Amino acid sequence: MTAALSEEAIGRLAFAAHTIRPDWPTTSVVSWLLDNPLPGRTEQDVTVALLWLAADPRTKTPARLAYDGPWWRAVARGHAAEPRARVDRSRLCSTCSLPEEECRRRWPDDHAYVTAEEHQAAVADTDPLIRALQVRDLKRLVATFGRIPKP
Ligand SMILES: [Zn+2]
Repeated sequence: MTAALSEEAIGRLAFAAHTIRPDWPTTSVVSWLLDNPLPGRTEQDVTVALLWLAADPRTKTPARLAYDGPWWRAVARGHAAEPRARVDRSRLCSTCSLPEEECRRRWPDDHAYVTAEEHQAAVADTDPLIRALQVRDLKRLVATFGRIPKP
């Protein structure tokens, strides 16, 4: 699996497709690419396939990218001898398990991108402090309010 395209890359691709196919509004191509992340495809792959489709008079919309066809075989022919890029699992987000770029693109308002290693380090750093605060706060609460009444 390869990282989905950045918004910047999607914008450039949509503009390129619109330049070749003025009947494909840039916003429609952007919208389609955002809704269809095409897992396993690199920016280079999507560029070749999308522009192949844009240049094909029988293609009505970029939605054919979702299907196998000669547009993807044109990509495969381009780098048949290249080894597939391997995903470094230690660089995946500890919350959503996506690569950094895709995590930041998909979840900007949901959570921060933090690797499992960084998460472990942060927990190790803060745990003693949090525990100390909790014990101190609990002692203060007990001193102030006594026992917690049963409902
Ligand atoms: Zn994430």
